[in-house]
Amino acid sequence: MDSNTLALMKKRQCSRVACSAEAVSTLTYDYADSLAVIGPLSFVVEPHGYDLCSRHSTSLSVPKGWLIMRHTPHDFDGSPA
Ligand SMILES: [Zn+2]
Repeated sequence: MDSNTLALMKKRQCSRVACSAEAVSTLTYDYADSLAVIGPLSFVVEPHGYDLCSRHSTSLSVPKGWLIMRHTPHDFDGSPA
């Protein structure tokens, strides 16, 4: 069993303050392109990523001029790249 498998088995919590809901997606910021990217929960904990529960990922707001890019589960078949 490798470390990626271990990370998958461990439940992750929403990174928002005072939120203890289970994280379902990972948010990363692309500062160069003023882009906030919400995708499926990352396999490994990304140093610059934020794990979000479904509520916080849908209610995400970004600074003016920024775009939100969402990768819905429909775009992602779950198979390893
Ligand atoms: Zn949350």
